[in-house]
Amino acid sequence: MRMRIGHGYDVHRLVEGRALILCGVTVPHTLGLLGHSDADVATHALMDALLGAAALGDIGRHFPDTDPAYEGADSLGLLDHVMALLASRGYAVGNVDVTIIAQRPKLKDFIPRMRKNLAQRLHVDEDCVNVKATTTEKLGFEGEQLGISAHAVACIVKA
Ligand code: MG
Repeated sequence: MRMRIGHGYDVHRLVEGRALILCGVTVPHTLGLLGHSDADVATHALMDALLGAAALGDIGRHFPDTDPAYEGADSLGLLDHVMALLASRGYAVGNVDVTIIAQRPKLKDFIPRMRKNLAQRLHVDEDCVNVKATTTEKLGFEGEQLGISAHAVACIVKA
């Protein structure tokens, strides 16, 4: 099959004293995401979508959070590793779609930079990368600002 599709989902807790990094963009906010790496929840969901499309498992398998090598890791750097794995199996990215679920802060103004970051790392044009953000109308853990979640869908093709 030339074209394959994968889905990814991730959640990180919002805490004080951490940076809020989404798709490699540091977003000014009073809270940031807690995690072993930089906790870039959107990039994590995207990596799982890419690995899923290639049937290569998940990021927990490739980058265990018990490994000190990944402490504070730049998730865009991990995305480079995922892209190398895909390339070694003959895959290139077709397009991706990422949804970030956060009550606050408003992410609209940061989305162009997020798309640019991802397009560079995925080796595709920006029109192959969509990033969108939604609230949950104050419902659930995202709505109560306890955490941020992200979904991603990726289409990959045999080059
Ligand atoms: Mg994660």
